[in-house]
Amino acid sequence: MTDFSSLGIQPMLLEAIEALGFQSPTEVQQQAIPILLEQETDIVVLAQTGTGKTAAFGLPMLQRIDANSRTTQGIVIAPTRELCLQISKELTKYASKIKGLQVVAIYGGASISDQARAVKKGAQVLVATPGRMQDMMRRKMINISAVEYCVLDEADEMLNMGFKEDITNILSHTPNEKLTWLFSATMPKEVARIAKEFMRKPKEVTVGTKNSASANINHEYYVVAGRERYNALKRLSDTHPNIYSIVFCRTKRDTQRVAEKLIEDGYNAGALHGDLSQNQRDLVMKAFRAKQIQTLVATDVAARGIDVDNISHVIHYQLPDEIETYTHRSGRTGRANSLGTSMIIMTKGEIGKIRSLERIINAKIAHQNLPDVTNILNQQLNFLAQKIKDSEIHPDVDAHLTEVTNILADFSKEELVQRLMSIEFTRLHAYYQKQSNSVTAQDSSESGGGRKAKDTRYSINIGSRDNYDWKKLKAFLNNFLEFQEGDIYHVDVMDNLAYFNTSTDKKDTVLAKFEGYAMDGRSINVRVTEKRGQHLQNGDGFSRGKKSKGGYGKRSQGGGDSFRFKKKGNSRGRGR
Ligand code: ADP
Ligand code: MG
Repeated sequence: MTDFSSLGIQPMLLEAIEALGFQSPTEVQQQAIPILLEQETDIVVLAQTGTGKTAAFGLPMLQRIDANSRTTQGIVIAPTRELCLQISKELTKYASKIKGLQVVAIYGGASISDQARAVKKGAQVLVATPGRMQDMMRRKMINISAVEYCVLDEADEMLNMGFKEDITNILSHTPNEKLTWLFSATMPKEVARIAKEFMRKPKEVTVGTKNSASANINHEYYVVAGRERYNALKRLSDTHPNIYSIVFCRTKRDTQRVAEKLIEDGYNAGALHGDLSQNQRDLVMKAFRAKQIQTLVATDVAARGIDVDNISHVIHYQLPDEIETYTHRSGRTGRANSLGTSMIIMTKGEIGKIRSLERIINAKIAHQNLPDVTNILNQQLNFLAQKIKDSEIHPDVDAHLTEVTNILADFSKEELVQRLMSIEFTRLHAYYQKQSNSVTAQDSSESGGGRKAKDTRYSINIGSRDNYDWKKLKAFLNNFLEFQEGDIYHVDVMDNLAYFNTSTDKKDTVLAKFEGYAMDGRSINVRVTEKRGQHLQNGDGFSRGKKSKGGYGKRSQGGGDSFRFKKKGNSRGRGR
């Protein structure tokens, strides 16, 4: 069996990772570590989420760094604040036995002067989001001119989020001789292009099939009317009484509402999204790990970095905005040799996306019909019966059964079974009786309609994670574009991006104004999206109005094609 020391990892690091319980290196670690330790080469490493990529770059980088020098020698660039924190914590643990080695996380939304102070103490490794990094470069709070190792982590995700020019800019301030190590779960064209542009003859390490999801995952899709999403989710959950699942929604609001609705309906569910405090999120995760929560409803961003084994199902309540995100999501199940199922709930109008998804994951996604009521009821009762059968008889229970036995004395075994099963059956039956028995794809308020040709729909890489809601974004757009109230409409804000419409005669103005535009050091990309203007006004299985707060009437239902950054010819980057 391969161990870390035979890969060339030095004793001080070995001691630390042993303490973390790492017994043997994962496959990507086995392949990448020896190369990164010994060879002066750039590298592209492709491996699914959860395969241990952090240690695959972290251990060699920490080993190669001179802890006696206080120069910044290594940088890791990652797309989100959560990831930065996670990576820096992980690296700090690996480095715990190396005297003087310091890792500092650099990300927005926290005090920049605190971070600058930590860097100044002599951090050899910085783990940064692109925005904050550039901010600190401009203010001369960090100096990356002597960097020897540069890691681009979750490169696919960074490109999805429109960070290409930011990366270009950052890299242009690093020495030419540095080594660039790129890590990614998928290899979309943009990642290949980055590799070509910024890396010198990169070696390539691919673990698992290229671009493919794990062979342990079964992929299925279910077609329903938009307003039936929630009922579909319930049916899918009810057919698997033992389900241990993550349900992905596109927006924080949907995440919260789906979780609340599930809880109201008696499920052990919890929500995980960016509007919760860190403390709330920790509690939810703790309950989920302990399986007190069976169904975790999460946004893509919040679910990043969740490492929980034995997830039985990943359910896509809505498809992600970026097709590549599908791989990240479904990679949460089917880990560590267990089998998992990835279920997509979609509308008729989205069926076209299945092909592109299949191409990306290199696997078949099977069309399935929602389980019918009989099937669900059978599953539930069998589960209950099995549970009774599997339960052990407690040695002390007899002492408490005298009265119970009296109460039930007159029932035959058949009657007892009937009554016992009816406890569950009656509840479920009543629920499904009320439902139209056909939760299927009918008229979908999402698939029909569509904008008239005189409208143009755009995507923009600003989202709720940047603290924008539709009102604020609309105000910004009107102001920036010098438009009148009413010129911008159908604004739908997702986590990382948003959509909006204008009349088509404004298209050139919009695109021209945004050409080369940057905000807080991040380039803002606006492009025309091909999809119809699927602005959803109504109908997703929730009653309207009840809980709605300000700015709520605009449902986000992007539905569109996969969002990609837009390459701009003449932009501020320094180019190399
Ligand atoms: P990735 O970046 O590929 O998504 P991570 O680096 O975040 O994956 O690792 C996923 C989890 O696996 C983390 O909790 C990490 O501590 C753990 N891990 C990494 N390598 C090993 C190993 N060799 N043995 C046991 N656990 C590991
Ligand atoms: Mg990672």
